[in-house]
Amino acid sequence: MTLSLQYPIYGPEIQCPHCRQVIPALTLTDTYLCPRHGAFEANPHNNELVHLQSGRHWRRWEGEWYRQHTHPDGIRFEIHEALDRLYTQGYRATKVIIANRYKDLVSTYLERNTSWRGNSKSVPRLYGLPVEFSPDIPKEPHWDVINFDLEKEPGVPKRYPYFRLFE
Ligand SMILES: [Zn+2]
Repeated sequence: MTLSLQYPIYGPEIQCPHCRQVIPALTLTDTYLCPRHGAFEANPHNNELVHLQSGRHWRRWEGEWYRQHTHPDGIRFEIHEALDRLYTQGYRATKVIIANRYKDLVSTYLERNTSWRGNSKSVPRLYGLPVEFSPDIPKEPHWDVINFDLEKEPGVPKRYPYFRLFE
């Protein structure tokens, strides 16, 4: 048996997605054990890490864990947090790009700008920002892991960032 086969897919140790402490794999299992957060199981079939206690899922991209959402509130909350962070850094977001795999999950929750002029094109919005979905996964594999991206521009808006006047 080679050494790599003794460890789960993410190797002999990982950073705990909750506390970022480096935690070891239990040899010959798919489990990592955090002294504070308990067991995480790596699924070799879909490359997901599952926190057994909470059922939360993560995927990893360039050393960072990205929580995988199963409820629209989860990803909406994460986007809201990111918008807050951006605002405190002196930027404002101009667009939200959400990973295509969440399209079904979030679509019914997006704001539709039903125009009184009967405009044919209604751009879905979230927190007042136009929403797009990511391109196909084979072209940009990180979109299979990350949840969303924000397009931004410098400058603090005059008003609270999420209340922008629509066209
Ligand atoms: Zn932990």
